[in-house]
Amino acid sequence: MKPGDLIELVLDDEVLKGTLVQSPDPETIVLKLSNGYNVAVEKSRVRKTVLVSPLVEASVIKKPRQVEMRKGLPLISILHTGGTIASKVDYRTGGVVARFSPEEILAMFPELNGIANVTSRLVSNMWSEDMRLAHYNVMAMEVRKEVESGADGIIITHGTDTLHYTSAALSFALQGLGIPVILVGAQRSSDRGSTDARLNLLSAAYFIANSDFAGVAICMHETISDTSCLILPALKSRKMHTSRRDAFRPINALPIARVCYDERGIEFKGDYRKRDKKSRLGLKLFNEGLKIGILKAHPNMYPEEFSSYRDFDGLVIEGYALGQLPINAVDEKTNIHSRNLEELRLLCAKMPVVMSSQSIYGRIQLDVYSTGRDIKAAGVLGHLSDMTPETAFIKLAWLLSNHSKDEIRLLIAKNLIGEIAERSEKEAFLI
Ligand code: ASP
Repeated sequence: MKPGDLIELVLDDEVLKGTLVQSPDPETIVLKLSNGYNVAVEKSRVRKTVLVSPLVEASVIKKPRQVEMRKGLPLISILHTGGTIASKVDYRTGGVVARFSPEEILAMFPELNGIANVTSRLVSNMWSEDMRLAHYNVMAMEVRKEVESGADGIIITHGTDTLHYTSAALSFALQGLGIPVILVGAQRSSDRGSTDARLNLLSAAYFIANSDFAGVAICMHETISDTSCLILPALKSRKMHTSRRDAFRPINALPIARVCYDERGIEFKGDYRKRDKKSRLGLKLFNEGLKIGILKAHPNMYPEEFSSYRDFDGLVIEGYALGQLPINAVDEKTNIHSRNLEELRLLCAKMPVVMSSQSIYGRIQLDVYSTGRDIKAAGVLGHLSDMTPETAFIKLAWLLSNHSKDEIRLLIAKNLIGEIAERSEKEAFLI
C-alpha cells in the first residue's frame, strides 16, 4: 500500500480507518483520520491491513477553463494567492503543502457556476505568512485589471494568518472602489471533507451576486458548523483563534452582514457603502522599501528593545490596555525604565510611533494615567484610536507611502475610511 491510500488497520481492540501517510519510523504506521488528526500505530499491534480504496490523484486540468457567459448572471473574478484554501494534504509528509490550481478549485466547487459567471486566475501561490508590502501592490493592480475588464465583484482567496492585514491594505490602496472585493480563506484544506472552503467561497459569491455592497470585506464561517458566514469589516477584524473555522471576528465593530447560503439569505447588520460601477478606481500603493516594526510591551523591558528600531521608518507599539508602557522608575528595580522613556523620545523624534493596545478591544486613551500623559508628551501618536495593531501597522505603512510626516501626525488617529470607530458600541465586544 502507498501513502495516500485509504486503509483499515485491524488491531486487537479496534479498527482504525484513515489515509496512509509516510511514517518517519519504520516500526510504525501513520494514518490521517477523517477528523484531520494523525495517529501512529506500532506495526506489532496490527493484526490485519485492508485496502479500502487506492489514492486517486486529483486530475490537473492543464488548459485554462473556457468560460461560457450565461446571460443575467453577474461576473465574478476569483484571484488566487495561495494559503490553505488552495492546498491539499501531502500524504508523503502528512502536512498540508501541495497546491491546487485555480481550475481545480473551480472544478471542486461547481456550485459556484450556478451563482455567477466565474473566471479564475492565479496571482501567487504562497502562504500568507510570507506576504510583504509588495504583494499588496500586486493584488491591488490585479484588482484594477479585473475592475477594468468589467467584473461585478472579486473574490481573493488567501491564507488566513495575515488575511486581515491584506484586507486592511487593500482598503487603503483601492481608492474609489465601486464593487465588492471579498477575501476568503479556509482553516481546513479544500480536499478534506471538513473543509470550510466550500461554504466560505459559496457565501462570498452569493453575497456578491445578491447584494449591493461595495468595498473590501472578509467572508469566513460564523460558527464552527457549516451554517452561516459573516461578512466582516476589512479594517476591523482579526484572526482570533489558531485553528477554529470561526476564527475571524470583528473587533470594535459589528459584522457587516450574515450570509446563510443554504437558505439563500443575507442579513445586513448596519450601514455599508453601495455599489457604483461608474466609480473611478484610483490606486494609492505602498512604498515597498519601508521598514516598520511592531513592538509589544511586556514585563522586564529593556531600552535596547526601543533603540533596535532606530533605523526604521515607523513603529507601532502594542502597549498595555489604554496605552501604557514601562517608563516609570518607581524603585531601584525599575530605574532602567527612565531609559525606556528616553529611547522612546528619541524614536518619536525620528519617525511616527503609533500606540495600539494588546487588549485588542477598546480605545487608546493616553490622558487617563500620568504614564499615558508622559508617553503622549514623548510624541507617541494614536490617542483615542481603536484600531487593531494590525490595522495600525497597515495604516502607518500606507500613510508613510502617500503622505508627509506632518500629515501623518494629523491623519493617524483620524478616521479616514472606517478604520477608527466614531463611537464604541457595547455590542461590539466578543462577537
Ligand atoms: N499559514 C497559512 C497561511 O496563512 C494558514 C492558512 O492558509 O489558513 O497561508
